[in-house]
Amino acid sequence: MIRLTNVSKSFDGGRTFAVNNVSLTIEKGETLVVLGSSGSGKSTILRMINRLLEPTSGCIELDGQNVEDYPIVQLRRSFGYVFQGIGLFPHMTVSENIAVVLRLLKQSIDAQRQRVNELLELVGLDPGIYATRYPAELSGGQQQRVGVARALAANPDYLLMDEPFGALDTVNRDELQQEILRLKKELNKTILFITHDIFEALRLCDRLAVMHHGELVQIGTGDELVHQPKNVFVRDLFQNAVRQVTSFAESLG
Ligand code: ADP
Ligand code: MG
Repeated sequence: MIRLTNVSKSFDGGRTFAVNNVSLTIEKGETLVVLGSSGSGKSTILRMINRLLEPTSGCIELDGQNVEDYPIVQLRRSFGYVFQGIGLFPHMTVSENIAVVLRLLKQSIDAQRQRVNELLELVGLDPGIYATRYPAELSGGQQQRVGVARALAANPDYLLMDEPFGALDTVNRDELQQEILRLKKELNKTILFITHDIFEALRLCDRLAVMHHGELVQIGTGDELVHQPKNVFVRDLFQNAVRQVTSFAESLG
């Protein structure tokens, strides 16, 4: 479980707040999607959880313990990360990229190879074809799958995903979203997933947190947010989305 209590972050000595007094809990096994436009404070929340940034005030706990009390290596190893343009090492093969953490953990070569094959299967890439390829020899969607495999390598309980599919075309995005839904069921990870795409958010979330100008506007199930919006901002957000879908459907005749 990840819990934020009254967390704020200012980058300018308290003049403005990138994150303003946010409290929320990500329950064990839950996928919480944080939805908000660019600059609303989503990435800042994620970076405070893994301590790439320190909050200006407030408290962040992982499994009931303040993240500041964990040795930083242990804290970071609790999380698997997937970011947009995941940054696979270009000079390493797919298999070497996925095994990076396993090497750090000093696993035997055999154990590494077995785990890499298992992970490639898990994310829908045939190890016989892809293990020895270099990132440049993969499509964007395939690279992102390798990114997911790498994040899962050391079997972390938590996945932190910051707009991981942002750079992908619709088809690849759709496939990877399906993949995440499958992995969610299969692996029972606790996932924090950040996106600015309302449809992606509704599709993947157990619960959804809407951010706006650093503030948490509303948190709840997709159904609650659509049908019981707390204010005009949330109502308009979802109404506009519904309108988009409707007009798209109409354009198809
Ligand atoms: P999002 O991920 O929702 O697009 P961010 O959390 O990255 O938004 O940023 C929230 C706000 O904080 C933005 O106004 C951004 O410019 C600012 N910000 C983020 N990181 C830094 C930083 N390292 N230094 C100064 N300002 C920052
Ligand atoms: Mg961001």
